Amino acid sequence: MRAAIFKAVGEPLAIETLPDPEPGEGEAVIRVSRCGVCGTDLHSTSGHGYTLPGGSQLGHEYGGEVVAVGKGIERLKVGDRIAALPCVGCGHCEACKTGIDVLCPNMKGYGGGLAEYATVNERGVTILPSTMTLADSALVEPFSVGLRAVRLANVTPETRALVQGPGPIGLSVLFWLRQLGVRNIAVLASSTRRQSLAETMGGEHFVTEGAEAQQQINTILGGAPDVVFECAGVPGTVARAIELVRPAGTVMALGFCMVPDTIIPGMALIKDVTVRFSLIYTREDYAKCAAALDADGDRARALVTDTVDLDRMPTAFEEFRAGTGGGKLLIDPWA
Ligand SMILES: [Zn+2]
Ligand SMILES: [Zn+2]
Repeated sequence: MRAAIFKAVGEPLAIETLPDPEPGEGEAVIRVSRCGVCGTDLHSTSGHGYTLPGGSQLGHEYGGEVVAVGKGIERLKVGDRIAALPCVGCGHCEACKTGIDVLCPNMKGYGGGLAEYATVNERGVTILPSTMTLADSALVEPFSVGLRAVRLANVTPETRALVQGPGPIGLSVLFWLRQLGVRNIAVLASSTRRQSLAETMGGEHFVTEGAEAQQQINTILGGAPDVVFECAGVPGTVARAIELVRPAGTVMALGFCMVPDTIIPGMALIKDVTVRFSLIYTREDYAKCAAALDADGDRARALVTDTVDLDRMPTAFEEFRAGTGGGKLLIDPWA
């Protein structure tokens, strides 16, 4: 099979031919329908912060159709259409009881989705609704991230919400705010690059960062935000969220910032702000997200601005790294 391989920092991904995967115990092999490219893929191949070892396969947002099952498989059968969890925990430890498998000290990675076939673990598989298109299977992972964060924020239709940083994660938060009936939403960005994308996904009130931004946000929302979803993940944005949120409000931090950042704790203290980090999703979020994408996928699908084949993938990957890409880049390995 053909697969995208990270070689070294500064080199484009290589498309190589590897042996077709064989399912181990508790595993299945899928024919990948789509795999998304994520900011984490870009980070972990950039040389800043954690860098993947050379020779690693990439791709953790993916789904497809089961073509082979290994020993001990109880729930899955050939032909099932699934979305895969990219990290699967042991299922027994204290960390696994949180529902977030990536916290498990014995978790196993299944991050080989940028390929024609991929191995998945039965515990980490969500069987998709029969009416859902496989082309949306790669959206379950990124949209589950927004679901958990919005869930933790306990929003109501009256919540004044600010989404800071309309990248794919911010837009996934926006999708779930709309999904849960929140009407009063502003989007804050450093540029207008994603304005039309945010508007298409239900973020009509778009504010560009600057001296007037705070006043504009408060005017749009009718007051300072109850919750700021910090999805930008660059130095200064957590401090900015603390500044923008209302007294006794909540900052839900999802941005993946891997360099030191500074906040003034006293600024959060004197406003009695709750700052909460939200790591990805639980397996239950995955199932709920698949159901929502099946029922109401149009708005979510708007996030996908580019779908390319494996040959085009290394170039498209570097375009996204350079910031010239659009919303979400998907790979169709069989195109
Ligand atoms: Zn990701
Ligand atoms: Zn565990």
